[in-house]
Amino acid sequence: MPKIDSKKIKKLFPIFSKKENKNLVYLDNAATTQRPKVVIDAIKDFYETHNSNIHRGIYDLSEKATNMYEGTRLHVSKFINAKSSEEIIFTKNTTESINLLAYTLSDNMLQKGDRVITTALEHHANFVPWQTMAKKKGFILSVVPVKEDYTLNMEEFEKLIKEPNVKLVCVSAMSNVTGTIPDIKKIIKRAHEVGALVMVDGAQSIAHEHTDVQKMDCDFFVFSSHKMFGPFGVGVLYGKKQLLEKLPPFLYGGDMIKSVKETCTLFNDTPWKFEAGTPSVADVVAFKKAMEFIDELGIENIKKYEMSLAKKAVEMLKKHKQVKIIKPKNLELSGPVISFVIEEIHPHDIAEVFNKEGIAIRAGHHCNQPLMASLGIPATARISFSIYNTEDDIKRVDIALKKLFKLFKK
Ligand code: PLP
Repeated sequence: MPKIDSKKIKKLFPIFSKKENKNLVYLDNAATTQRPKVVIDAIKDFYETHNSNIHRGIYDLSEKATNMYEGTRLHVSKFINAKSSEEIIFTKNTTESINLLAYTLSDNMLQKGDRVITTALEHHANFVPWQTMAKKKGFILSVVPVKEDYTLNMEEFEKLIKEPNVKLVCVSAMSNVTGTIPDIKKIIKRAHEVGALVMVDGAQSIAHEHTDVQKMDCDFFVFSSHKMFGPFGVGVLYGKKQLLEKLPPFLYGGDMIKSVKETCTLFNDTPWKFEAGTPSVADVVAFKKAMEFIDELGIENIKKYEMSLAKKAVEMLKKHKQVKIIKPKNLELSGPVISFVIEEIHPHDIAEVFNKEGIAIRAGHHCNQPLMASLGIPATARISFSIYNTEDDIKRVDIALKKLFKLFKK
């Protein structure tokens, strides 16, 4: 397997060679990664060579486009080791995948009085839909808290899973704030023991951890292409086929039907019954290139490299006594995402000073206000790594921090 040569890899991403980005240190990869040229070229190639609508045309151009679109579906199924491509639904993003599930599960699998468990680590995308459905349909929503070391409180989870009528557990495979990786295997095992389904939010883990949905035995798994070098506008919902078959459609219209009469409609098979209307065809087609790109580098190599950067960044941050790191101490329990706070300097001010230094980081509540509330902080500054980041980037952060402290007389 090839080792990661970040300087070489960086050259595969056109954004870094643009004059205006000469000085850019991009450390907001948890929000979205950059795109390699192969992905950008694939979008261009689709529009220039294959552009047509899918599933409908009885002409070569459309058949080729359909095959390319369905080819990505097959590739996704192999990438996450699903049993078949029929278990892969394309959506717009992780948020839409979770909403699709929240609406359709609430329609026919969850009853009033049932319990849904989520956690304090969740992005709003994996919290607000469940909270809203709980209010609408009368479910009881329970939230597993985090411990002081930023790991999930498994003792509390154990208490909650023993409550009556637990039907669903919704948990993230990696936190977008602390990088925390919960013990997903244990959560799934315990949930299945009490007859509950498990939905795993893989938005953050997908680009950093090997995903094997069969081994994991999750019932549903969701993620976004844009967080793994693919185009915006493509999300995935994986579901076990026997479960997807039981769920009603989410959106209604063209392409999700077998036949329509004035009085009734026969819906298409899974997964197409969940894909109403024209999808983002060129983006789905180009998404395949992003998965191939990851496979060529090797996800284990990627993980090893990014975690070595995370370790070095934590060591550097620790040298600044003003910095409080919001991340599990044991780096094995988290991904390459590092949140931090500095007393009396708002994270927005940190990001502003970093921006002046050419460093792009994220500052705010990271769409996770319940977690911020439980940690007793309004916001954090967040660094998140990808394969094109280098040790030089960490040095630049070190210099930016020194300038920040000088400015704020800290
Ligand atoms: N879940 C997690 C853990 C995330 O980090 C994010 C985005 O940052 C989402 C869900 C939502 O992803 P998207 O905006 O692509 O729908």
